[in-house]
Amino acid sequence: MTLSHTASILDGIEKTPDILVPAALPEGTKASLAGLGRSEISEKLAAIGVPARELRMRTGQLWHWIYHRGVQSFDEMLNVSKEMRGILDQNFTLARPEIVSEQISIDGTRKWLIRMPPAGPHDKGAEIETVYIPESDRGTLCISSQVGCTLTCTFCHTGTQRLVRNLTSAEIVAQVLIARDRLGDFPGAVRPTDGLVPDAERAVSNVVLMGMGEPLYNFDHVRDAMAVVTDGEGLSLSRRRITLSTSGVVPMIERAGNEIGSMLAISLHAVRDELRNELVPINKKYPIKDLLEACRAYPGLSNARRITFEYVMLDGVNDSLKDARELVRLLNGIPAKINLIPFNPWPGTKYQCSDWGRIEEFSDVVFRAGYASPVRTPRGRDIFAACGQLKSETEKLRARARMMLEEGIGAEGVYALGSGED
Ligand code: SAH
Ligand code: SF4
Repeated sequence: MTLSHTASILDGIEKTPDILVPAALPEGTKASLAGLGRSEISEKLAAIGVPARELRMRTGQLWHWIYHRGVQSFDEMLNVSKEMRGILDQNFTLARPEIVSEQISIDGTRKWLIRMPPAGPHDKGAEIETVYIPESDRGTLCISSQVGCTLTCTFCHTGTQRLVRNLTSAEIVAQVLIARDRLGDFPGAVRPTDGLVPDAERAVSNVVLMGMGEPLYNFDHVRDAMAVVTDGEGLSLSRRRITLSTSGVVPMIERAGNEIGSMLAISLHAVRDELRNELVPINKKYPIKDLLEACRAYPGLSNARRITFEYVMLDGVNDSLKDARELVRLLNGIPAKINLIPFNPWPGTKYQCSDWGRIEEFSDVVFRAGYASPVRTPRGRDIFAACGQLKSETEKLRARARMMLEEGIGAEGVYALGSGED
């Protein structure tokens, strides 16, 4: 890694205001254990006086019930003594964040608007969206990593919502729990009859970090959350069934490979720096050449473990056949898949989706270069659940509120100032 890369990592961290993760819950509120990692559960148990010698065993029991069975009450934990269940119930809950709404598209796609617990008396609770995309033999859950996004890709609806805060690891995991609750995807549960749920063993067979936010700007929480989601004694999803999509935070790509180990998707969208600077402004910091260099070095990359390059089809902007030829030339030598995404419109956008004839011609060039079925069918457009259409009403804190937070003035005071204009 070069020195300039090290400097960039620091920039990245500056842009990742962990401080904006909610502080303590309001007094008198019981903490939920749902979504926590093993060490966090152990710490919580230790804090209520569970003896050190029992911590491992108790954590293992809880883990099984929370993540393998998906229970929502301590009473169901049959191999935990009645007394212990009572103590747990007095101190904790297994509550998930609130589902504000569930919408089902005509194509069976579901979108949940999820509200996090308020961080103070005047906080409404940050809201995010999570989308479930069923197919006949698999179900993909698209989860969010941040509330809003610091980046401002010009074709993305989330990019118009400024970053409110990072999600905690538990809040990222909770999206998987909520989806599995709603889809009857825990042992013995019943599948819903509305919408579409695949006739497969698992309703949620794949997870993509392609919802709101830039996952590599919330690295630690995303990594910790994926450790919970892939734990073989719990949710047990294979790392190969998880895809992390990044707009190109180059200095974090190697760490993502080593510490998260998921599949990687890159939001490329343009083959020339001049255009990519405009569409995906992070390109000004990490240009295409550096991005592709980091991709070539992605740990574990092989023909069986390819990087997906996402390319949104914008009419008259990036969709010429010259662009298509340049795309395959650029990716030459990188084990890659190419995903052409028809642009999904949103209110106020200046772009239009390329017409189908053009998408086909473009995809033919890509196909002839050896990439199979490269066009992603838009899903859930009617309920604004398609790629890049997610946005919540949650607004960033006012500048003054942010300043107070940074100066360490309690979260309550800050949230009391409420949201609003800067
Ligand atoms: N921040 C990450 C992950 C979330 S976006 C990233 O940018 O990769 C998931 C994918 O949807 C990205 O490839 C993004 O570029 C794409 N996307 C954003 N807005 C879109 C839109 N309006 N239509 C189609 N795809 C879009
Ligand atoms: Fe953020 Fe990704 Fe949207 Fe860009 S495309 S604004 S990085 S969510």
